[in-house]
Amino acid sequence: MKIFKFFLCALLFASYSAYAQDDVKTERQQGHTNENKFKQLYDEFSTPNVYRTGSGAPGPGYYQQQADYKMDIEIDDENAKLYGDEIITYTNNSPDELKYLWVQLDQNMRAEDSKTPLISGSGIQPATTSSRAVSSYLKAPLDRGFNIEHVKDVNGKDLPHMINRTMMRVELPKVMKTGDKFSFNIKWNYNINNHVTEGGRSGYEYFEENDNRIYVIAQFYPRMAVYNDVEGWQNSQFWGRDEFALPFGDFDVNITVPADHILDGTGHLVNREEVFTKEMMKRYKKAKKSYDEPVMIVTQEEAEKTEKSKSKDKKTWKLSAQMVRDFGFATSRKFLWDMMAVKLETKEVMAVSLYSKEGNPLWGKWSTKTVASTFKSFSRMTFDYPYHKSISVHAPMGMEYPMISFNFGRPDEEGNYSDRTKYGMISVIIHEVGHNWFPMIVNSDERQWTWMDEGLNTFTQYVAEQDFAEWYPEALSPGDKTYPSRRGPAKNIVRYMGGNQDYIAPIMTKGLNTYQFGNNAYGKPATALNILRETVMGRELFDYAFKEYANRWKFKHPTPEDFFRTMEDASAFDLDWFWRGWFYTTDYTDIGIKEVKKFAVTTTPNDNGKRLAERYNRDPNSLVYFIEEGAEGFDDAMKANTSINDLPTVKEYIMDNFTPEEQKTMKTAPKYFYQITFDKPGGLVMPLIVEFTYADGTTTRETYPAQIWRLNDKEVQKAIASDKEIVAIQVDPDLETADVDTTNNSWPREVGESDFDKFKNQVRD
Ligand SMILES: [Zn+2]
Repeated sequence: MKIFKFFLCALLFASYSAYAQDDVKTERQQGHTNENKFKQLYDEFSTPNVYRTGSGAPGPGYYQQQADYKMDIEIDDENAKLYGDEIITYTNNSPDELKYLWVQLDQNMRAEDSKTPLISGSGIQPATTSSRAVSSYLKAPLDRGFNIEHVKDVNGKDLPHMINRTMMRVELPKVMKTGDKFSFNIKWNYNINNHVTEGGRSGYEYFEENDNRIYVIAQFYPRMAVYNDVEGWQNSQFWGRDEFALPFGDFDVNITVPADHILDGTGHLVNREEVFTKEMMKRYKKAKKSYDEPVMIVTQEEAEKTEKSKSKDKKTWKLSAQMVRDFGFATSRKFLWDMMAVKLETKEVMAVSLYSKEGNPLWGKWSTKTVASTFKSFSRMTFDYPYHKSISVHAPMGMEYPMISFNFGRPDEEGNYSDRTKYGMISVIIHEVGHNWFPMIVNSDERQWTWMDEGLNTFTQYVAEQDFAEWYPEALSPGDKTYPSRRGPAKNIVRYMGGNQDYIAPIMTKGLNTYQFGNNAYGKPATALNILRETVMGRELFDYAFKEYANRWKFKHPTPEDFFRTMEDASAFDLDWFWRGWFYTTDYTDIGIKEVKKFAVTTTPNDNGKRLAERYNRDPNSLVYFIEEGAEGFDDAMKANTSINDLPTVKEYIMDNFTPEEQKTMKTAPKYFYQITFDKPGGLVMPLIVEFTYADGTTTRETYPAQIWRLNDKEVQKAIASDKEIVAIQVDPDLETADVDTTNNSWPREVGESDFDKFKNQVRD
């Protein structure tokens, strides 16, 4: 008897989807040249192997190289020059034999023979500033880039080497086999750039008052390139945009600076007793027990006094760091210094800020608390922060290194600041401190995949910003109930994704070759992940999988597939369609309502019904008929106000086929029937979120999974049976799918001024 039930259902629906079938046929006859959007990513993904498994985890043969550094660094403050001498110990854990090593010379991007300016298009502006005219047309003779004094083995014998712009190949005296270690020595110096006038991720800012500098120093030493199972040597040149790929290692760094400088950087300060005054030690011990407010290690009063004179003496700060991929530091006699302790689930860490008086009152108020807040949010979303501290340094740009980041946000000379400056500063601190997780610990290849660190980090930043506002509501400006996040909410990416396709590249593009870098590598992937979390997967499934990815790959080198695969592996969510659409194409979301047809139900046979009855060889009076609004008999049927389960034939059928228990569960009495055609002018497949508003003012929502588009990418129909009259239908009512055109999202269509304007503009174009 159950079979009969299905047959009847099929018959009911066949009667009114007859026209739609014709459309579908035409579509099919034309033939689809596009690949199905739900096709698995077998062609795009690398084949799983012994190094990286099909589940997205490191495989049994996974390996990574190690590079340990011992460095002596000195800063000549008078000439803004850095001198360095390092011994690199490189360990070959790969199964491969290595004949040479590649070392990165990032400072050479600033050298006179740099090719970076030559790959940027340029034109003549009708008017320009004199400084820009000088930098564009009168090449300033700046002596920048590494001066490599020597490359030697540990016995002092010169090692043959070849410098190809930002990469240096060092010939090994003998081939390195698996497990071999090789130590060698590089001595170098370079003139530090003024990063305010010349740009750059590190350098110094000059303060005319008292003739002082704040140095934020990074990419300051020849650094080992990554060698792995995916790229071999990652020796793609540094053009200035794509960031870095670096192996993990241990660092012992001695940094000599003027004795009146305050310095902090990556690693443990191992000679604290030597470089701190007794008073500073006392304050430091207090800071380690202060969980609510930062404790000043160097006060503003002290810093203002120090910056007025210059010590002729030198002081050496000794830092030691284990399992870090890079090293950065900041030094100045202008620095104020504060710290506070933060309790995480499994440990305690220190939130630290270094800033000059120019950053106050903003920095004293919010920098260290923002670091503390970031620790908590990122640890919850991934794993507890494994290092012991993170320093936020006041600088004109934002940039990240292990345990230290450079962050902008400066009040005006009177100490006033706008909301924009305040939120900008809090956001950049969350962002750069967040980079400790991606890519400093979950160590992806930034040179190739900008989105893997910027996208994941910007997504987690969004979560952390919302946390921050909850934990420090007093930081919000009057009128703001939540943190005004710039990136993350779906609606904020609409302008970019709906823009000119000639200037949009898929996320899976090397950063150097993308248009609209910020939207491509930060905004879109962060939004994609937020949509995945809030709309597609739900927080529970997403958060578990995201955490699994972070934990699988902490202190390792993941690839995009490792991320994509883990997100599916840990959630049982087939997301290939999502990765394909959002990461491999530039398609956008546009889903709308094309047509809504209303039907009444009756047992009175009509012509169409009679034909069907004949075809299925059934009594015409036994069938259920749906009459479209406007057709003959519709008004009568509506007036009869009959619900489908009250029709005699249906009633009889229910009595015959369902137990009384089952009948009780058939609670609804639908008498309004709608056939809704949803269309999808946009290329992206996305869940179809629909809100129905009824005549009594109530609403319900239905979310159809993205797979609703699998058999027809252009449009899809849904039959809705309702016991209440539907008066309005809205697609994506909360603007959570990044739909680029919402004028087609509602029924009845809201023909507003905007539609008219659009029409007018079209005519004008
Ligand atoms: Zn970033």
